[in-house]
Amino acid sequence: MKKTLGLFFLFGLLAFFFWRPALDFVLSIIPSWNNNWNYKAIADRKIGVQAYQGFSKPLSEQIKQSLEKTYGIPVYVLPERQLPASAFVHIKSPRYRADSLLRDLKAHKPDTLDHILGLCTVDISTTKRDASGAVKEPHDKYLDWGVFGLGYRPGPSCVISSFRLHRAPATAFYERIEKISIHEIGHNLGLEHCESPQCVMADAAEKLSTVDGVKAELCESCKRKIGLP
Ligand SMILES: [Zn+2]
Ligand SMILES: [Zn+2]
Repeated sequence: MKKTLGLFFLFGLLAFFFWRPALDFVLSIIPSWNNNWNYKAIADRKIGVQAYQGFSKPLSEQIKQSLEKTYGIPVYVLPERQLPASAFVHIKSPRYRADSLLRDLKAHKPDTLDHILGLCTVDISTTKRDASGAVKEPHDKYLDWGVFGLGYRPGPSCVISSFRLHRAPATAFYERIEKISIHEIGHNLGLEHCESPQCVMADAAEKLSTVDGVKAELCESCKRKIGLP
């Protein structure tokens, strides 16, 4: 009896190790079973551009065009909306919480769109945390930390602000807006920060000089990751 049980156990173990790779292979070739139950090819997705009150309409149009050029998918400019009062904070200075705006954008995203980029002129902020999830030290610096943009990775919404992009040279302003928009939508599409120093997905960290140092395009490796030619 013991011997039979032992054999069953051994057989089960062998079956598990030999069949697991086969099962994983079958799962991996069925896109809807691959990590995300709602998986949709990037080429089939649509993006919305959502200006919040006061954001320039011609600038929204330019951002739409540069996103279409970069990602090769349709981008729609949505009617302007008011900033949600619930996102406003005054911790160090008057700001809107970028994380609250991400939730607001997600909640108001038309079902026909897969991702939505919020555009605003007010200063936006988030809480900077370390790897363990605790607020980074010093707390008073990082609890309400001003950012250029923020986006889910992957996810339905991202937001950028023009507030911190006005520093000279003035000619760099539009390029900065364009790069940060491409960067945040890249996060929505699942891209992480890139090691390639000139790639638009490089970590802008805390400096405008980093934004100025990258190109307004994805490197070959980032393109491959999301299936772009
Ligand atoms: Zn980033
Ligand atoms: Zn890259």
